[in-house]
Amino acid sequence: MSTPPLFSVTHSCGHEWTHDLSARPAPERAGFARWLTSTFCPDCSSPTCESDHERKREADLKAAASWAEATGMPRLEGPRDRIGEAMTARYRLLRAAYRHHVQRGGMTAEQFATIIEGPARSVTCASWWIDRRDTDPADTEELMDHLTADWPAPGESDCGRWG
Ligand SMILES: [Zn+2]
Repeated sequence: MSTPPLFSVTHSCGHEWTHDLSARPAPERAGFARWLTSTFCPDCSSPTCESDHERKREADLKAAASWAEATGMPRLEGPRDRIGEAMTARYRLLRAAYRHHVQRGGMTAEQFATIIEGPARSVTCASWWIDRRDTDPADTEELMDHLTADWPAPGESDCGRWG
């Protein structure tokens, strides 16, 4: 095994973090690391500060959109005015899960990609993400586990007719 590809990233909040990008295909790593520099660091992106809530919400939506593109997350389906909310919910939940499981827990980035990101990629229903926005990051593994068992086969979801 080679050593994990560690990237030192200075985030837009000014904090420097080291990220293990082994879960990304090698050709995408530099671009992903470059994208990370445009985001707040994992500590600063926790929704703690009420005073700049509004500003953060817009920033989060932008971050969620570029993150979805960088990670190949699918477009979400649902009413147009809920898509942004759902994208932000997905982004926040998965970033929080990453912090919990990989940066603070014992999961490797590769395991995270398989256990969490893989199943997450299969959910394109906006309402599903909005309904689960308050999931404890510690429960995401279980959430995804249920998902693999319970989620209807593609085409069976009534998400397109939602709202
Ligand atoms: Zn920071």
